[in-house]
Amino acid sequence: MITMKDIIREGHPTLETKAKPVEFPLNDETKATLKAMREFLINSQNPETREKYELREGVGLAAPQINIQKRMLAIHTYDEKYETFHDYLMVNPKIISHSSMETYMPGGEGCLSIDRVVEGLVPRYKKVTVKTHLYDVKTDTLKETTLRLRNFPAIVFQHELDHLDGILFPSKIKESLPEAQPIEFKNIENESEEENL
Ligand SMILES: [Zn+2]
Repeated sequence: MITMKDIIREGHPTLETKAKPVEFPLNDETKATLKAMREFLINSQNPETREKYELREGVGLAAPQINIQKRMLAIHTYDEKYETFHDYLMVNPKIISHSSMETYMPGGEGCLSIDRVVEGLVPRYKKVTVKTHLYDVKTDTLKETTLRLRNFPAIVFQHELDHLDGILFPSKIKESLPEAQPIEFKNIENESEEENL
């Protein structure tokens, strides 16, 4: 089980290293890692397990954050309107096209590998088309898929993809983004403006 002690923090060289493609077929160790990454996000979002295991809440996790230099990532989140749930274990994801329009988190981004508040805006593509293999833990199958992501899930994906390329969000901060549109979250109770990606 992954807890905060397994998550490496800024300054660790793995977070500044480009991760290597995952080889197919997936071996049992890689499958177990993917499953554990998804379970970490689920545990972090459940108030009981979050408190019990002293986790920080997260919506995305990339393998380099647990010191595994492989191109795989987990996303587990609703979109900004709380309409569609995005539950992905991606292996070797690539952006094949994107919008010219940019967006950003109005309260800035957060990261499980960064233990401080970093203010500033991070430009992200508003829409991305992603080619990836998706691992399904329930059926133990891997499928090549093309996904179209927009707004919040697209931001989460781009933040995690940056981890696979050894990039942390503070290096991308801009003072202002006059051309970009901020993500508009639907107001619900307990809404937090800051998300840990
Ligand atoms: Zn991060």
